[in-house]
Amino acid sequence: MTSLIPRIPGIDFDGFGKQLGYLEVEHSDNENDAAVIPSPIAVIRGGRGPTVLLTAGTHGDEYEGQVLLQELIRSLGPDDLDGRLIILPALNISAVREGRRVSEVDGVNLNRALPGRKDGGPAQQIASIVAEDLIPMADYVIDIHSGGSASEYVPSAFVYLGPTEELWAEKISAVEAFNVPYSVVVKPMLKAGSISSAADRAGVPMISAELGGCGTVSLPILARARKGLRSLLAHWGVLRNGSRTPREPVRWVELGAGSAVRSTMAGLMEPLVELGQSVSAGDVVARVHSVEELDRPAKDFHAPLGGVVAVVRHPALVNVGTTLVNIAVDHGTTPPKGDHATS
Ligand SMILES: [Zn+2]
Repeated sequence: MTSLIPRIPGIDFDGFGKQLGYLEVEHSDNENDAAVIPSPIAVIRGGRGPTVLLTAGTHGDEYEGQVLLQELIRSLGPDDLDGRLIILPALNISAVREGRRVSEVDGVNLNRALPGRKDGGPAQQIASIVAEDLIPMADYVIDIHSGGSASEYVPSAFVYLGPTEELWAEKISAVEAFNVPYSVVVKPMLKAGSISSAADRAGVPMISAELGGCGTVSLPILARARKGLRSLLAHWGVLRNGSRTPREPVRWVELGAGSAVRSTMAGLMEPLVELGQSVSAGDVVARVHSVEELDRPAKDFHAPLGGVVAVVRHPALVNVGTTLVNIAVDHGTTPPKGDHATS
């Protein structure tokens, strides 16, 4: 039996072994009247265990996940697996080539575009393949992000709360297995067009991740996540002989309405807190200096609530409305209750 997807020529999704190929989206512009933009994909299968879909490069300027998935493709063979890995390390390939969050080709944020459109632009086509073809094949999904060029996160798993008790329990155990220092929780179905929401709608357990940022690759975060990814694949029962121990306690923090500290002034941001730092409501967390108005005092920005500094803006230059810092509610080592969840 073979299982083919028209936009992914040459890959038999029921085949055993390691297959390398491309997801091809159609594109027409001033230079090419009918080109395709190829996004690399690997399908590695050994045994009949579960299928895990792994994506990175959903935003083009987020690099730890891209490196981790490239490594996974090169290092794993079918003998290492009881199941199937579907790996897309540079999912929005146009944005990856440009080193941008969103590609100039279509200006579409892929992680807001699902379920996409088969007859849409490049990101819309990729979104439709992920939503209609790939997620339905998967028993588990992980989509690896970072803070990109514009911010840096505490190294974290990133999960949408709920949406059901069963999925929430699956996500909690996946986060513990992935075992990076933090888990950032947001409300159920936070962004309707994200891969996380599509997986939640499909009832497929999924975690995302936010590993570092600043448009570069952090060595300590990469090392921790490299171990964590293998531990997670072992936990999901697809990686044979994966090490699941020792694990360290994960610190659960929650980003919600009112977490963001936004600038009301254009200028240069001076961060006054570090990632992972605990702050109290009202603490000064950032200061913005005017560039041209020499007699204008710098403006202080305060923590709207007590908690943990989870995200810090990266480039110093900011505008009115730029998010400077995000403060997350600290739940310690206990995951927030699933009774926040709505179905
Ligand atoms: Zn991202």
